Amino acid sequence: MVTNVEIIVSHVNADFDSIAAMVAAQKIYPRAKLVFAGSQNRNVREFLALHQDIIHFLDLKYLDKKEVKRLIVVDTRIADRLGDLEDVTYQKGVEIFTFDHHPPSPDDMEISRDFSEPTGAATTMLVKILRDRRISISPFEATLFALGIHEDTGSLTFPTSTYEDAEALAFLMANGANIDMIDRFLNQPLTPEQRELLDELLKSIYIENINGVKVMFTSARAKTYVDGASVVTRKIADLENINVIFSLIATEDRVYIIGRSKLDEVPIGEILTRFEGGGHPQAGSAVIKGSNLDKTRKTLHAELFTYIKNPLTAGDIMTKSVVSVDPDTPLVKAREVLNKHGYTGLPVMDKKKLVGMISKHDIDKTAHHGLSHAPVKGFMSYKVKTIAKNMTLDLIERIFTEANMGRLPVIEQGRMIGIVSRSDLLRATHGFEYLIEPRKIRAPSRRINREEVVQKIKTTLPLDVRRLLRSVGQTAEKNGFKVYLVGGIVRDLLMGQQNLDIDVVLDRDGIAFGKVFIEKQGGRLVAHKKFGTAVAVLPNGCRIDIATARSESYEHPAALPKVEFTSIGRDLARRDFALNAMAIALNTPKFGSLLDFFGGQKDIQDGIIRVLHDLSFVEDPTRIFRAVRFEQRYGFQMDGYTENLARQAIDMDLVGRLTSVRVRDELVLILIEDSAWSALKRLSDLGALANLQPEVVRIDARLQSLFKSIQNTVPRLNYYYARKSGRWLLFLMALLRNLSEQKLDEWCNQMRFKKADVQILKEGVLKTPVVLKKLRSASKLKNSTLYSILNPLAQESIEYIYARSSQRLVRQRIDFYLANLKDIKLNINGNDLLESGFKASPLFSEVLGKLLVAKLNGLVRSKSEELTFARELLEKGN
Ligand code: ATP
Ligand code: MG
Repeated sequence: MVTNVEIIVSHVNADFDSIAAMVAAQKIYPRAKLVFAGSQNRNVREFLALHQDIIHFLDLKYLDKKEVKRLIVVDTRIADRLGDLEDVTYQKGVEIFTFDHHPPSPDDMEISRDFSEPTGAATTMLVKILRDRRISISPFEATLFALGIHEDTGSLTFPTSTYEDAEALAFLMANGANIDMIDRFLNQPLTPEQRELLDELLKSIYIENINGVKVMFTSARAKTYVDGASVVTRKIADLENINVIFSLIATEDRVYIIGRSKLDEVPIGEILTRFEGGGHPQAGSAVIKGSNLDKTRKTLHAELFTYIKNPLTAGDIMTKSVVSVDPDTPLVKAREVLNKHGYTGLPVMDKKKLVGMISKHDIDKTAHHGLSHAPVKGFMSYKVKTIAKNMTLDLIERIFTEANMGRLPVIEQGRMIGIVSRSDLLRATHGFEYLIEPRKIRAPSRRINREEVVQKIKTTLPLDVRRLLRSVGQTAEKNGFKVYLVGGIVRDLLMGQQNLDIDVVLDRDGIAFGKVFIEKQGGRLVAHKKFGTAVAVLPNGCRIDIATARSESYEHPAALPKVEFTSIGRDLARRDFALNAMAIALNTPKFGSLLDFFGGQKDIQDGIIRVLHDLSFVEDPTRIFRAVRFEQRYGFQMDGYTENLARQAIDMDLVGRLTSVRVRDELVLILIEDSAWSALKRLSDLGALANLQPEVVRIDARLQSLFKSIQNTVPRLNYYYARKSGRWLLFLMALLRNLSEQKLDEWCNQMRFKKADVQILKEGVLKTPVVLKKLRSASKLKNSTLYSILNPLAQESIEYIYARSSQRLVRQRIDFYLANLKDIKLNINGNDLLESGFKASPLFSEVLGKLLVAKLNGLVRSKSEELTFARELLEKGN
């Protein structure tokens, strides 16, 4: 006799989710036996018949219930849903574990350990455990688990579906779930009995409006209960496109109620508990013994009337304070009003009477016709659809889709009392968060833990920097500060890329911290009192940028989770993109803990650049440049929401209004990147470069090839030089190559580039054509001539000229100059001539010049030859 029996059970009428959850649970509790509490659905039965050699169930009759020590219950917590096994739950000394996804109810059994989670399917939570514990699964198991999840989430379309269900499905697909099999068992054709039932039910359809909700009722009589009546009921709901349906099926001594609902207002499971039934909000059933169709219908009606609250109407969701304009308002003015409020359309009111609507679209159509001062009445639409205060939302929705209107004025006794916009409707029907869904932050599937952050620090940062970070954390801890590593370095760390810009934020008084730190470490501190920031430069040359958390009052964007932010939280909330708004705690005990309030990690995983709130680009339009820079640098993309906001900001000409200096800085940052070309192209496509001398700056294929050529040239030619050239200057030369001298001067002035940079830039742009012409000359160039052409030019100009020409001759000449002539120097100077007894004279420099020419052309070599040659010249000259 087996003792200490562990069994895994689920509810009667087992469906795929419960079977799948049972099989998954057995992988976690391998000693436990699977036991059926009662019958199974037809699909499940057929599936099991096909796989009976693979899954083994213990027949109830071989189970000695008294020996059960542990009961693992999946997909329910209610004892009486366990059929014949119900009594086990009351036995003394039985340990009960549950894995359920239904909401808790007062009928729940006494549970030892409850692992339940509100996922769309019970299988999901078990699959998560298997995945996390790396328990391998066979393709058959993956298929069964996927079937369970598909079934209970309506293939992820039921409102109860969660992203975890989707993740579990993805995981199962990656592990061999068989789609054909899933499709076959999920969409079984109806059996003859089911088809017969369908016919019956279709004949009896009627629809009733219950407190504004359309409810369909169907009914049929049958000899016995038809297996799969719920499938049939769903089919009808789909066919008739109805949100709520109840099928009543009467057999000789009882009535079955099967309900389905897509509306939150009509939670089927909850309603059917009044009939001793149950289920999910969107599907459920009940059995009423000793009743008949009529009686059941009546009681169900009564329940529904008390259950379904009065639905929302226009009056509930409308905006009451309506912004409007009068018919004589000029279009520009109307546009301003629209922008100010962020609306896309406005009612036009003549005294208190609604006479039309003017939309952004109407105004934009007139943009290029010089009509901005014309009154709106010439452009508004006169035919305005209006609604009444008591109109229900489903009707309003229909009007929106049919009339293609952005907003509907609500009229009562001839007066406008409010307005309902599409977003009002969407918010009311799908919840406030629906419209901001793209910003709603979901926890990433797997968050990096502290050890992993520390590991990343180890693998990406050099030892001295690591020590420095540790020491920053220690000093802070000892002196009562909280310190965090922030910004680009955190982002790059998580991506496994080295970044040595150390930015830290202190919870208070960063400068004071800087002082303490420098005292300990040595080095010097440059403080900016006004900003509460400082730069610490350490003896080994490392720099740390120190800031104080900016925590002045900040109206944090509605999209953010409602959490009380600490000062570091508020500091992060002001940053540009989620992937840049993470911090790593450095204080000793917490060293390495990641703060990620906005889903930055997830964005890194998904390759997304995302702003933290709608007004981000309005607050700081340079973020558009930054967004594009990061996009191209990492091969990421703005999400649709962010890109829209960027486009809107560009449309509003916010980029054009930036000061030139800020544009310059962003431009340089872009030109420093390896992906400079693609970033410029992207900015140009977004329309952000419109203000950049459009008549000359063309982001075209010619420029692209020039950028490429520069990119190839620079490393090659830098080889001849001691310093690396400013490649961005070469890109800038290419960009501005068609500007006249005057235009170029104007532009440089306006942008306030450094003098030295302007000089190089101008040289490169203006001299290149002349120099190229000389270098292309077919006649032989003496070395000294080549030297005189190239020597006066800056490194950048020479490199640019090289990149500008693909001619062999030109490139050979430049190569030759760099390799053989550039560094030729005379071995003698004026002093040597003085020592040789000549009197100082202006002739010296002329002679030395000639001497250099001779040397370049190979006529003199050694120091003594130089001296002889110089003496001869001087004597001749005298
Ligand atoms: P890079 O790798 O190009 O240096 P970065 O992200 O480090 O990129 P920095 O200019 O060094 O950029 O800025 C450091 C951090 O400051 C950013 O990561 C971001 O958190 C924040 N930040 C920078 N510019 C802005 C901005 N315009 N608006 C909001 N936050 C910004
Ligand atoms: Mg940086």
